[in-house]
Amino acid sequence: MEQQQRDTFAWIMKSGWKGLCPRCGKGHMFKSWLQITDTCEVCGLNYRFATPDDGPAFFSLCIIAFPLIFLVVWLEVAFSPPFWVHLLTSIPLLAIGCLLPLRPIKGWLVASQYMNKAQEAGTEKLWAQLHERDEAKKRDKRDT
Ligand SMILES: [Zn+2]
Repeated sequence: MEQQQRDTFAWIMKSGWKGLCPRCGKGHMFKSWLQITDTCEVCGLNYRFATPDDGPAFFSLCIIAFPLIFLVVWLEVAFSPPFWVHLLTSIPLLAIGCLLPLRPIKGWLVASQYMNKAQEAGTEKLWAQLHERDEAKKRDKRDT
């Protein structure tokens, strides 16, 4: 059981990091920088289950932004540099630090959603209801 969990975790990390389909590991998860594709071009996996929403932004804030803010504060306290130093270092660092990890984090969330959904088969009805609403919304958008 433990071995299986480790394998699942390793698989999520690998497919998420590379942005690959969590089912076949060959197709691509993203159709653009941060947009999840509709179906896998290799195995046909439907990505409707993927709803990471604000998760990636939240995680990148927690993992990257907070440590960076500490760094910025430390820079300020240790050297009290002029303001332009922050403009040149802290702000680009924060921007890059928050944006770059978005894609792998999103990939990890989608891959783990896929793996968890495969394990919790009982929630299918709920998923169907949720996605019916999504589909209706998409149709509305297309019609207008
Ligand atoms: Zn696939």
